[in-house]
Amino acid sequence: MANSGAKHSQNVEGAWYCTSPDDDGGEGCIACNVCYGAADDFFGEDDDGNAFVKKQPSSDDEVEACQEQLEACPVAAIGNDG
Ligand code: SF4
Repeated sequence: MANSGAKHSQNVEGAWYCTSPDDDGGEGCIACNVCYGAADDFFGEDDDGNAFVKKQPSSDDEVEACQEQLEACPVAAIGNDG
């Protein structure tokens, strides 16, 4: 489960987030490019290749698209506080 105490600083405000690669809990983004490769409407890439949420989903389809990436992330670095 993503650590809500270690959010990436570039996430846009809202329920969905990616965690920082500096997460001490070991669940930080490892820059694998899965999420922003598959759903780049919602996930962006910082200068180091780490992911952040650039747009919060609103419709059911958009939430589903983000949920798919949450489940696909190999290190559980995507979370949803909603
Ligand atoms: S899928 Fe997970 S580890 Fe890969 S870039 Fe996205 S947040 Fe980072």
